[in-house]
Amino acid sequence: MDTISIAIDGPSGAGKSTLARSVAAKLGYRYVDTGAIYRTIAYHVMRSRVDPRDEEAVAACLPRASLELTYDAGGLQHMSLDGEDVTEAIRLPEVSLCASAVSAHPAVRTYLLEMQRRAARTHDVVMDGRDIGTVVLPDADVKIYLTASAQVRARRRMSELEQRGTPEPFEKILREIEERDRNDTQRSVSPLRRAADAVLLDTTELDFHQSEEALLQIIKEKI
Ligand code: C5P
Repeated sequence: MDTISIAIDGPSGAGKSTLARSVAAKLGYRYVDTGAIYRTIAYHVMRSRVDPRDEEAVAACLPRASLELTYDAGGLQHMSLDGEDVTEAIRLPEVSLCASAVSAHPAVRTYLLEMQRRAARTHDVVMDGRDIGTVVLPDADVKIYLTASAQVRARRRMSELEQRGTPEPFEKILREIEERDRNDTQRSVSPLRRAADAVLLDTTELDFHQSEEALLQIIKEKI
């Protein structure tokens, strides 16, 4: 059976995951958060006390991680590492930076490629990440490049962290977003870039509802 896949790429904090999750629920598709997969590997690297920039050491510790992507009854994605549910733990800001560093290594990207493709073979999916439309699912039915200004993304991240009870100063968040943008766009393997056939959606001036409407409109036109 042929499955439908919708690829959403873009920089950190553009609202990809919130929008992708909501759109997937509306369409009855599965939401695949590939950032969570990279974060889980980063968490494993941190726990193994390996320098995330040391490609050889990171590659060597990959096979020691038992990684699993599962879905609960409500359709929410969970990540487990060596049998432990780490879905919440991988959201910490230090894991974000480590994920950005480890995801630059070709060994890590190759290691995770099949896991991501398998998810799209078995279900209709909305998958978000950095290289979904360019590398993971080059034949996706719909490709969207979702972005917003760094200032607006930092502001959104700040309120998200406040709501979660782990507030951080604006300047620090902005600096980290800019650092991740640099890492993600300048790495040599699978850099973050808009696929030639991706529709650009800039949400700088849009609220959540307007962004979702725009996203659904793009999808409706393609499918
Ligand atoms: O999307 P999220 O912020 O959770 O992703 C964490 C990090 O994982 C990103 O900064 C990015 O470096 C990396 N990532 C990636 N490719 C993906 C998804 C995430 O390189 N498809």
